[in-house]
Amino acid sequence: MTLLLDDVTLTYPDGDGRLTALDRVGLSVPAGNLTAVVGPSGSGKSSLLAVAATLVTPDSGRVVVDGVDVGRLGSGDKAALRRDRIGIVFQQANLLPSLTAAEQLEVMAHMAGRPRGAARTRALELLDAVGLAGQAGRRPHQLSGGQRQRVNIARALMNEPAVLLVDEPTSALDHERGAAVLELLLRLTRERGTATVLVTHDRTHLDSADHAVTMVDGRLAEAAVH
Ligand code: ADP
Ligand code: MG
Repeated sequence: MTLLLDDVTLTYPDGDGRLTALDRVGLSVPAGNLTAVVGPSGSGKSSLLAVAATLVTPDSGRVVVDGVDVGRLGSGDKAALRRDRIGIVFQQANLLPSLTAAEQLEVMAHMAGRPRGAARTRALELLDAVGLAGQAGRRPHQLSGGQRQRVNIARALMNEPAVLLVDEPTSALDHERGAAVLELLLRLTRERGTATVLVTHDRTHLDSADHAVTMVDGRLAEAAVH
């Protein structure tokens, strides 16, 4: 299993007590599979991704990424695991305003200490894969919202992650563009063999996913798919 969460509980401080954001959550995602997560606002979806991304340490339970038990790692090894094995796509694209689309991707390879020439080649190949072949030289303000989100997705794949974590990428897009982004994520998941978790507000995305779960009050359950 490329991504495994086993009996994960996460609480946050809340006044005098604690708020349970994740309540004994279990999730396993094999390589090349996409799991869709739906659920009301505040139910713990982003917390689930934060734990899977190794950005937040759960109170209890186990997180295994690409065969590595995250709980056994120090913070330096965790950061390296995150950089090399995990791709993260947040709701906001957070692109650097002064960089071209290709450069947004190349920065990731640079931070991982990868050679410049190979990074350029891979950046162009990935932009091609997300349908932005002609846009490599454009800066964020020259791209549409949907195109920026595609750059965001391509950037997350730059260092060939085993795990791809995507938080509501289509919430700022209309239904049609949202459906196209889902289709893209499914194709990339297959082609690149990532274990993908997609948090989405759009229940129609559940039908296309390999596995669909719903989050309510920090608890995960199988989603009813028609
Ligand atoms: P979702 O993504 O489904 O909207 P979140 O995971 O963001 O849900 O939040 C789950 C619960 O945890 C909410 O009640 C939220 O207010 C709370 N929460 C999220 N992040 C923090 C934090 N850093 N500190 C305290 N409470 C938090
Ligand atoms: Mg959220």
